[in-house]
Amino acid sequence: MSSVVQVEYVGDLVPYDDEVAALAEVGAELTVIRAADGDALVDAARDADVIWLEWTPHLTRDVLARLPRLGLAIRWGVGYDQFDVAAATELGIAVANAPSYCTEDVAEHALALLLALSRQVVYRDRQGQQGLWRHGPAPHRRLAGSTVGVIGLGRIGGRVARIASAFGANVLGYDPVAPAIDAPVRLVDLEELLRESDFVSVHVPLTETTRYLFDTGTLALMQPHAALVNTSRGGIIRQEALVEALDAGRLGAAALDVFEQEPLPADNPLRGRDNVILTPHEGANSPQAVRDLRREVCGATIEWLRTGWAGSIVNPQVRPHARGVAQGAR
Ligand code: NAD
Repeated sequence: MSSVVQVEYVGDLVPYDDEVAALAEVGAELTVIRAADGDALVDAARDADVIWLEWTPHLTRDVLARLPRLGLAIRWGVGYDQFDVAAATELGIAVANAPSYCTEDVAEHALALLLALSRQVVYRDRQGQQGLWRHGPAPHRRLAGSTVGVIGLGRIGGRVARIASAFGANVLGYDPVAPAIDAPVRLVDLEELLRESDFVSVHVPLTETTRYLFDTGTLALMQPHAALVNTSRGGIIRQEALVEALDAGRLGAAALDVFEQEPLPADNPLRGRDNVILTPHEGANSPQAVRDLRREVCGATIEWLRTGWAGSIVNPQVRPHARGVAQGAR
């Protein structure tokens, strides 16, 4: 019997009846745990062949090294910055994500934030709720004809570029990593994108290269009226630099779905601003996305248990020395 351990975060995927039934068909059993830290995870998942991780604790080198049977670690999501992929690869552990369950959702969320900033929807709603009519300046900015810069032109960024283009925006793109770009953008370097864009939307993974991509220097390149939308990862933006830029009027507005510290603490300086929209990491959320997420995670697990490999594995270089199912399953 192979062991699959689900590491829950808030329990919003309960019940697991479909997963339990599907895993039973391939001789695997699901155990659900919660773990406050890496030690607790190791204690509870020591015999796991497969781990499903919702959010925390992170699977660091130290944690991975203490999971001798682990052959496959899957993130319930697109980003897998919770895993030390280099360490996993060295140890023979395959890492997978759920690559496409929420592409449309996050792209639509980014556009919703962008439109909410361009039309000041949240700020104007507060006024309308209080009966304040035509109160204050209206620096709305028409999206049609504006310049939208998209950073990271993968699944989500590519979709954002297509929707923004359909709204009549001029779309600039920056992605020096992708081998090929399939999006209606004019490719430019980062500096040109930041200098020319009225709106910038970020869609890169959090890596050592992209951490604090938006810092004092890069934010200073943006136009004072420009708006920044981030639905990727909080660590892409250095928060102090963003707060400084907003305070100094060097950046017009921001809309954020992701933060370095989640949930956002009560005293976070981004709160309570008319020109900042904060959504609580909800970009991926829809019933359709949750359905597809469950299919992608459970499907990859069954594929791996049956064949020793899965299409959503993100570290293919592990393959020659990957821990096999036979080694993991007993
Ligand atoms: P993807 O892998 O399809 O696309 C990422 C793109 O970023 C790739 O084209 C890659 O070449 C590019 N890239 C990598 N490093 C770069 C750099 N330094 N500069 C510019 N481009 C770079 O991923 P995706 O499905 O489009 O998702 C993007 C990110 O969105 C994920 O990594 C995840 O962190 C985040 N995300 C957030 C939510 C949410 O709920 N808010 C949900 C899903 C995904």
